[in-house]
Amino acid sequence: MNFLPIFLDLRDKTCLVVGGGETAARKTAMLLNAGASLLVAHDGDLAPAFSEFKEQDRISHKRTPFSEDLLDGMELVISAAEDDAIDQQVSEAARARHLPVNVVDKPAMCTFVLPAILDRSPMIVAIGTGGASPVLARLLRARLETLIPASYGRLAYLAESFREKVKAKFSHAPMRRIFWEKVLQGPVAEMVFSGKEDDAAKLLQRTLDKEQDESPQGEVYLVGAGPGNPDLLTFRALRLMQQADVVVHDNLVSEPILEMCRRDAERVYVGKQRANHAVPQEDINMLLVRLAKEGKRVLRLKGGDPFIFGRGGEEIETLVDHGVPFQVVPGITAAAGVASYAGIPLTHRDYAQSVTFVTGHLKDDSTNLDWDAMAKPNQTIVIYMGLQGLPILSEELVKHGLSPQTPAAIVQQGTTPHQRVVTGTLESLPELAVEAQLKPPTLIIVGNVVSLHHKLKWFVSEDERNAEA
Ligand code: SAH
Repeated sequence: MNFLPIFLDLRDKTCLVVGGGETAARKTAMLLNAGASLLVAHDGDLAPAFSEFKEQDRISHKRTPFSEDLLDGMELVISAAEDDAIDQQVSEAARARHLPVNVVDKPAMCTFVLPAILDRSPMIVAIGTGGASPVLARLLRARLETLIPASYGRLAYLAESFREKVKAKFSHAPMRRIFWEKVLQGPVAEMVFSGKEDDAAKLLQRTLDKEQDESPQGEVYLVGAGPGNPDLLTFRALRLMQQADVVVHDNLVSEPILEMCRRDAERVYVGKQRANHAVPQEDINMLLVRLAKEGKRVLRLKGGDPFIFGRGGEEIETLVDHGVPFQVVPGITAAAGVASYAGIPLTHRDYAQSVTFVTGHLKDDSTNLDWDAMAKPNQTIVIYMGLQGLPILSEELVKHGLSPQTPAAIVQQGTTPHQRVVTGTLESLPELAVEAQLKPPTLIIVGNVVSLHHKLKWFVSEDERNAEA
């Protein structure tokens, strides 16, 4: 984050605008909207737009070139002089006094930038690109305009008028939050949006009267977060991520995905490294029970799909045993996500009529996989957790009848900016994988479908782009 967004209270404060052209007028309008009074320093007539403001009592025009003493008593400075030398002078003088200064269209001279604003007062959405592309910010604002009902601000005022009452009713903060989430997304909100504010207030009062102040009922959301790329989350996952009180996650869940969880949710890391179990599974199961019994909405966030090599089944079995309510949200499993992003269809009329998902995590360096069932023709094998065991896996599959020339691929961090795809054959892949020094997680795909990769690959990750450059 290059800039910290904040909201300034400028009511009854005076700001300096240097310049009197159309651009200065636009910035003036913005400051007037925020309730500020303005001193406009411009050595000439002001552009006609200035005379159209209805807040003339809050604008005073000084016919003078910029001088440092104009900064006395100012809260903030905007320079729209459209003259490099003057802009520079304003910027330097303001910075010397630690006054926030913005010079229109000259990011290097600014200590703050003005965002694109979506005004649903008292709710305000500010969008910034740190000066990189104001147009992009405006385009995003236009999209949000269509998404956020015009009366969202009225809903905020209604909520404000009930704030104290709601606070008095519920002693637990989480209960308050749940109450507001329900109200702000339910019929009360719909009534405000359709202009029936009195009815909305009455309904809100009735809803509040009916609520009991008791400690909240906790719940566990067992959510699949997909293979790493946040675009591949489901809507339901996102919704639950944004309302959970605590997030229990491990190392398969990427940082960009964690970022999308509610800001103030508590985070508990229970990650495991191979052969280095950070938190034993039984402890994780009991942790979920304990947190839910404390009344929390617990998000158990898992990579991929919770029911595919995710031990999700064990976790909810414990919940059932302890009478804790839960829901399960499927995710895109690594096999599906990684295969798509590597351009390797897992089944194909000409090459494979079935696909098998197996774990390559070898217990005690041996494995009890059904090699005969895997070494079948016209089948794709997807191996999770297989990097360490790859030499043994490849050897056994050949021993049980697959050709050493069977196409095979290993994909590092599929669907993410660090995706890398290494292809070869059953025989050559173990060595290629070592040479490539892949970073976990990696997924192995074995079968003739892998030969389609070169024709069908469509996704080029950041790492691949950098390697080519
Ligand atoms: N429940 C998860 C799998 C957990 S097992 C799912 O449905 O995807 C962990 C293994 O998944 C890793 O060792 C790796 O083999 C695979 N995996 C998960 N995400 C991956 C990714 N983005 N790229 C490659 N492999 C991945």
